[in-house]
Amino acid sequence: MFFPTLNGLKMYKIDDISISKLDGWLGTRRKAVIDSLNPLQFSVDTGIDEQYSIYIFALSTQIGIAVLKARYVIECPLCDTVYKVVYDLEDIPKCFVCNECGSNLKNHEDYVTIWFELIIEPQEIIISEDVLDVVRTVSPLGKLVASALV
Ligand SMILES: [Zn+2]
Repeated sequence: MFFPTLNGLKMYKIDDISISKLDGWLGTRRKAVIDSLNPLQFSVDTGIDEQYSIYIFALSTQIGIAVLKARYVIECPLCDTVYKVVYDLEDIPKCFVCNECGSNLKNHEDYVTIWFELIIEPQEIIISEDVLDVVRTVSPLGKLVASALV
């Protein structure tokens, strides 16, 4: 696995196939995009339902899993000016006045976009042929030693 802590999703009753798809998808993102991951793109790429994709992304930000971090971009929908970027739901303003066009914005859904950042490095354990040879050599010997001890 690229991100072993994703196994923590099982606690939330997320099935193995979805975990494996998420792990593979996150582990193969290009560096340029890892701070702007979109669960809807994940949904398109893997065929996993949109709402479920958003749900597992949100769960992946939880303590104990902590593979992703949510980033909320507060942006004026009328002139596309970014007002603020926050990392906590609590910090999303209830309303704001756009610095650029002066629009008075009061409806969350109009001005908040959620992105996810990958916050840990993928760890791919590659077992080389040399290591496998050692295991093959040692195993029968290990058994022999073990049987001699019985
Ligand atoms: Zn504006």
